[in-house]
Amino acid sequence: MNRGVYMDWNATAPLRAGALATMAAVLQEVGNPSSVHAFGRRARAWVDHARDAVAKLVGGRAALVTFTSGGTEANNLALHARQGRTLVVSAIEHESVLRPARIAGAQIARVGRNGEIDVAHLAYLIDKADRPAFVSVMLANNETGVIQPVAEIARIAKSKGALVHCDAVQAAGRVPVDISELGVDYLTLSAHKIGGPQGAGALVLAGDLPVEPLVQGGGQERNRRGGTENVAAIAGFGAAADEATQLGDNARIAILRDALEERLVGFGLPLTVFGRTAMRLPNTSCFASGTKTAETLVMALDLAGIAISAGSACSSGKVRPSHVISAMGFDAATAGSAIRVSLGWQNSQNDIDQFVGAWGRVQRIGLSAGPDTGLARGDADDARIPA
Ligand code: PLP
Repeated sequence: MNRGVYMDWNATAPLRAGALATMAAVLQEVGNPSSVHAFGRRARAWVDHARDAVAKLVGGRAALVTFTSGGTEANNLALHARQGRTLVVSAIEHESVLRPARIAGAQIARVGRNGEIDVAHLAYLIDKADRPAFVSVMLANNETGVIQPVAEIARIAKSKGALVHCDAVQAAGRVPVDISELGVDYLTLSAHKIGGPQGAGALVLAGDLPVEPLVQGGGQERNRRGGTENVAAIAGFGAAADEATQLGDNARIAILRDALEERLVGFGLPLTVFGRTAMRLPNTSCFASGTKTAETLVMALDLAGIAISAGSACSSGKVRPSHVISAMGFDAATAGSAIRVSLGWQNSQNDIDQFVGAWGRVQRIGLSAGPDTGLARGDADDARIPA
């Protein structure tokens, strides 16, 4: 059965064959990793192997990997470790950082028009705080793919006595991620973005740093996260991490992404490609044409068998302008017409051809959601070509 063209890999990636096989093997066994008998020891071995693989993916130490229920929990756990410090985050963080940050009264750093965090503003917010800071910044944005100057931010923040957390959920497996080179203290990963199962993630520490458990229980995960480990999911995470460490065919994926953008620009319609002048993940393209709302485009392309997202998938149940595009200084109408195409190892040139064909048809038929949505004109990222 042809299930269509999947171009929504930043929302979730398919399970890698190795992860599926590993999980199937684990699910046929019995054993609690905390049990001392042979069955328990075997379950523990699966978890330990995964811990090694996840640590290796980010150049970390296995003993400093805490498995969680996903990236959301790992981000929450990191922020929970701030111990009275002033929280400083950027305006384009994932909601799993932004929501707890808002509740904690965080200082929010601005981003530039190209989607990069304004480092000088962030440094100013650290200086302004009356207590030492706890900084949380993402390595790559889930909507635009823009790679953030995390190493620079960490260097500045740590010189001012801050602790630094990095959400590397979208970067892992797509660009090299090394916790020491980044110079951060805490780092978040999610299994399902790298071809592991949904519902598993990890918080990796750079050293002996405070962690305040969110889930209290039987002392699992070195007292950092209670509850019997999700052994099958963790083992699948480990298998995916093993493969993701190779960084796969990201160069090929970047060529597909760049070709897609060139061809869309070639339509001669107004097209803003967000973050195009910044360093981006190889697989992500976020753009607005201004002729249709994102909701209309997502539905029309879905009818054509193509799966993409309007802004962040995590909020796509409710259609509202992307906070990321808004934070970059674009107006509500532009933010509300932004869509995201995100590619992965299963995509081919044929998928790009199908997308471009469907895009052309959608633009021609009368699905217009109203008047010109007021695309910002004349900025560096504006990829319009003369009509
Ligand atoms: N951080 C970023 C940047 C993400 O894109 C996501 C998921 O979309 C998360 C965190 C949350 O990860 P999870 O889905 O594993 O909870």
